[in-house]
Amino acid sequence: MKSQDIIQREDHYLAHNYHPLPVVLTKGDGVWVWDVEGNKYLDFLSAYSAVSAGHHNPRILKAMTDQVGKLGVPSRAFYTDILGEYAEKLCAVTGMDRLLPMNTGAEAVETAIKAARRWGYRVKGIAKDQARIITCLGNFHGRTTTIVSFSSEEDYKDGFGPFSDGFDLIPYGDLAALEAAITPETCAFLLEPIQGEAGIIVPPEGYLAKAQEICRRHNVLFILDEIQTGLSRTGKDFCFQYEIDKPDGLTLGKALGGGVYPVSAFLARKEVMDVFDYGSHGSTFGGNPIAAAIGLEALKLMEDEKYSERSFELGEYLRGKLEALQSPLIREVRGKGLLIGMEIYTDKVSARSICEDLKTRGLLCKETHATTIRFAPPLIITKEQIDWAVGEVDAVLKSKAA
Ligand SMILES: *Cc1c(COP(=O)(O)O)cnc(C)c1O
Repeated sequence: MKSQDIIQREDHYLAHNYHPLPVVLTKGDGVWVWDVEGNKYLDFLSAYSAVSAGHHNPRILKAMTDQVGKLGVPSRAFYTDILGEYAEKLCAVTGMDRLLPMNTGAEAVETAIKAARRWGYRVKGIAKDQARIITCLGNFHGRTTTIVSFSSEEDYKDGFGPFSDGFDLIPYGDLAALEAAITPETCAFLLEPIQGEAGIIVPPEGYLAKAQEICRRHNVLFILDEIQTGLSRTGKDFCFQYEIDKPDGLTLGKALGGGVYPVSAFLARKEVMDVFDYGSHGSTFGGNPIAAAIGLEALKLMEDEKYSERSFELGEYLRGKLEALQSPLIREVRGKGLLIGMEIYTDKVSARSICEDLKTRGLLCKETHATTIRFAPPLIITKEQIDWAVGEVDAVLKSKAA
């Protein structure tokens, strides 16, 4: 079947909630993917950071197949010999005390919301059903009905009400707004250390540290969503390590699944996590042995292959090269590590059309919010591959500006 026919079939049978670039992938290996016509592409998106270890990473594949060959999904009705080992490792690398394993990022965030509210009632002493959570304008925490309730993005909400109450939105990066928004009913402040979907928005330096201090002063939990920024993506194991020791709660996902499986986590201090008791929360697939084996191997890979150092150095390198492109179309290049956004003057050309042109030249990127192109290659990428990619970006920008 030709690409065009496959695309038509997808369009016919699938919900139209995505707008993919017109390329039909069939194979992946490392930083590369191939389409059905045999064309090769450099993957500069990594499934929104889920494929940090590269496609078909041999260690991930081995961990997964070994585990599938032994025990698949027995449910959490029983103990398994791998979940505790994985949890111990994840707690060690994050500095958190306990793990609640889930599958998708949105589920980890839902878990964080439940934990924060229960902590608010049972520990902080907020009156029944009055707990509030502060979140930021431009946030992205997933797509469930509760989570879109506090999105500031009209597209994510339109037609999906009625929405959940209990959330207050403040501008991202604004400490005075945080201080002003806190009330005795506030149980938590939930935020991304860099806003990914909003367009790789980096807050002012010192923001996380000062926001945490404000939260401490008011007995408010400081909860970070590192589903996109975590696990070496931004040049540290976790983005919070640029500024703070650790948050009270932390959500992870994406790269935790090694690029092959949905694995997410809510981690927290003991005092927060212990608000969950038998029957209060759960997931049939959460923490299953396959997920645990893959998550464990993803963490070991991160350490053994020094992904954070790689991401930091190559990120500086890539950002420097993009900043040096003297294109009149570039408004700004920003980011940390290998999570980089290039904002385009969209009165002249759309970010989407740049991504389409890059695709025809063998470089896969995706726009976020019409104005910004996200560059987030697998962390195993090399300098030479980055050089090639930037050359292609340069060529496309030149052709567009001409
Ligand atoms: C992707 C993402 C999510 C949602 O993860 P899903 O696995 O798609 O549910 C939540 N928060 C952040 C910061 C993300 O980038």
